[in-house]
Amino acid sequence: MIPSSCLVHTDWENFRHNLRILMRKGKSLMPVIKANAYGHGVLPASEVLSELGIDWAAIGTLEEGRQVRDHGYRGNIVALLSFTPGQEDVSLALEKNIIPLVHDWKGLKAFDAIMSSRHGSVLDIAVKTDTGMGRLGFSPEEIEEAASFIAASGRLRPVLLISHLAVADEPEHDEYTARQADLFDRAAETLRRIFPDLRCSLGNTAGLVSHTERCGDICRPGLAIYGYNPQFGTSREGDCEGLLPVMSVSVPLISVRTLRKGESLGYGLSYTAESDRLVGWAAIGYADGYRRNPSPEACMCVNGVRVPVIGRVAMQTTCLDLTDLPFSPAPGDTVHVLGGPGHAVSAQDLADWWGTIPYEVTCLLGKNTRN
Ligand SMILES: *Cc1c(COP(=O)(O)O)cnc(C)c1O
Repeated sequence: MIPSSCLVHTDWENFRHNLRILMRKGKSLMPVIKANAYGHGVLPASEVLSELGIDWAAIGTLEEGRQVRDHGYRGNIVALLSFTPGQEDVSLALEKNIIPLVHDWKGLKAFDAIMSSRHGSVLDIAVKTDTGMGRLGFSPEEIEEAASFIAASGRLRPVLLISHLAVADEPEHDEYTARQADLFDRAAETLRRIFPDLRCSLGNTAGLVSHTERCGDICRPGLAIYGYNPQFGTSREGDCEGLLPVMSVSVPLISVRTLRKGESLGYGLSYTAESDRLVGWAAIGYADGYRRNPSPEACMCVNGVRVPVIGRVAMQTTCLDLTDLPFSPAPGDTVHVLGGPGHAVSAQDLADWWGTIPYEVTCLLGKNTRN
């Protein structure tokens, strides 16, 4: 891949800090480092987990699991994104000791059939039950039959029961979350009758911080470990305090020029100066994951001072109004799109300006070159 002009920095000390805050909740943690650790880099993230003695990690695909294992992580790795397996998937899971998620009959039977040809070995699996997300998992009514099937097979060992909360970050839906937790507990009871050592994992970040007692014995925080609060703007904002952002993104300023009153700029001439302006172009655009049509409040930071984005965002360039800076900007100056010193832009700010959530912001910007 050709490096972009857009540089992603990751502050692993802040990542450690966030993990330590969540560890204080008293639950075992299985941090979610899927999708390249939400754009932050799955391998360095896994190093920090090892350092802190966190012995569960949730990744997306088995292939991501292989990379984390080969990089030296020795804890349990659970692959949240499971497909109906082929021979190679099972080989990979066995060889690298990665726990695949089994979420439907087709997958369960395929795992069993493949394992039947591998005499003597047993595959650790995580069983998913759907308690209300409507995405993956055996329904609570199917759990008993699935448990009997697994017990009869003898080739699969369920080590973990998983379900996912749909609205744990929305206090007005607490009843729904409580119902999900009830269904989960019942499924756990059913499975534990046959597999007493089974561990249980229900809560994501919001489940861990706001429904701590109801979210199983292993929690799966994602967003908070990267420094963002999924309950931002709700009455539960305070449940997750003191987090520090891990990602920052900077780009060079590549041009600085004067725009006279009445002159326009950019594609569609979408910005016209109402007075003389000093403008500059930053080397980031929608090819780098910046949104093409952010809201008018959108800003970037030069030396810690916020400046507004103006005109239409292009493929690799975005225009800034530099007029009010208390110093003279020059090409080559660093522009912080996310994070950095001073009045920094947060992923939550970008999410607000882009009409999305911080998860998408770090995933998109995180695809750029890492320094
Ligand atoms: C992504 C994911 C999480 C983490 O959710 P956050 O809201 O980021 O804490 C937990 N569990 C599953 C199954 C997920 O897919």
